[in-house]
Amino acid sequence: MTLNPKQDFQKLPKADVHNHLHLGGSQVKFKALYPEADIKFPKFYDGLSGMIDFIYNHLNTVMLTEQDVVNFMEIAIESAIDDNVKLLEASVDVGLVRFFGNSVENLIHTIKKLKNKYQTQIDFRPDLGFNKDLSLEDAYTHGVSCLMSGEFNGIDLYGKEDNQDLRTFARLYDMARDHDLKTKVHIGEFSNHESIEDTIHLLKPDELQHGISAVDSQKTMDLILESGIRLNVCPSSNIALGAIKCLEEHPIRILYDHGINLTINTDDLILFDATISDEFNKLMDLGVFSYEELDEIRLNAFISEY
Ligand SMILES: [Zn+2]
Repeated sequence: MTLNPKQDFQKLPKADVHNHLHLGGSQVKFKALYPEADIKFPKFYDGLSGMIDFIYNHLNTVMLTEQDVVNFMEIAIESAIDDNVKLLEASVDVGLVRFFGNSVENLIHTIKKLKNKYQTQIDFRPDLGFNKDLSLEDAYTHGVSCLMSGEFNGIDLYGKEDNQDLRTFARLYDMARDHDLKTKVHIGEFSNHESIEDTIHLLKPDELQHGISAVDSQKTMDLILESGIRLNVCPSSNIALGAIKCLEEHPIRILYDHGINLTINTDDLILFDATISDEFNKLMDLGVFSYEELDEIRLNAFISEY
C-alpha cells in the first residue's frame, strides 16, 4: 500500500515551537467564535509595521476583555490539537497583563488553568514573551514573577529588529537560565546577519526565532552551527511579511544544507493561515525538501536538548 504523504503529515504528531499564543488560532475558529467581527485577513501585510497596524486596527477591536484573551488562547491550543500538534511551545505576551487587572498573578493563574484543561490532548509549554516595546520596569517586575512561578518553559523576545539595543535584556536572560528556562529570541527575519551574531554573543540563546538572514554569511551560519543553536523558522510568515519573496526562494534549504538544526512552525496562525501540515505540504510540493527530510525536521522539533 502506498502511503499518501499529505495525509501522513496531518496524521503524524508534530511540535510547534514558534507560536505567539493569543495569535495562534485558526481564522475558521476565530470567525466561529466572533461571527459578528467583520475582519478580512489579507494575504500579505506591509512588513512588520503593517502587521502591527493590522493587529491594532482589527484584532484589538475584538480582543477587548480578559475573557477575549482567554478565548484567543483557547482557539490557538485547539487549532494546534486539530493539526495533531502534540507539543506546543507558545509565548504568552507579558503585556497582556493589562487585560488581567494588571495582576500578573491572574495571568499566571489563567495559564496554569489552560495547561490543566488541555493536558490530556497536548503538551502545552508556555514561554514568557516580551515585546521590546514593553517598559523595562514591567518587563523585569512581571517577568521575575513569571519566572518564579514555575509555570513557564522558556523566554522569548520580539518586536522591531533593526537598531535595537538588547543589552537591557541580558540580565533577564541570565535569570531565565538560572531558572532552567529555554532561551529564544527573535532576530534575523528583517535584520541582517551581523545582528544575529551580536544577539548570540549578548543573550546566548538556545534557539533563534527566524534567524534566516544568517544565509547571507558563511561566518554567521558557522557560528549558529558551532553554538548548537536551533532556528525555528516560519516560512509562510516570512512571505506574508515580505521578508522573503516566495517559498522557492526561501533560504531554509541553504541553512539546512549547512547542517543547521531547524524546525518549521506557524508563528501567528490567525494572520498567516498556514498550519504546520500546510507548511510541510507546500515545501514538499515545491520540491524544496523531500518527504524524508521534512520528516526529520518534524522530529527535530520534539528535541529540547541538543
Ligand atoms: Zn514570531
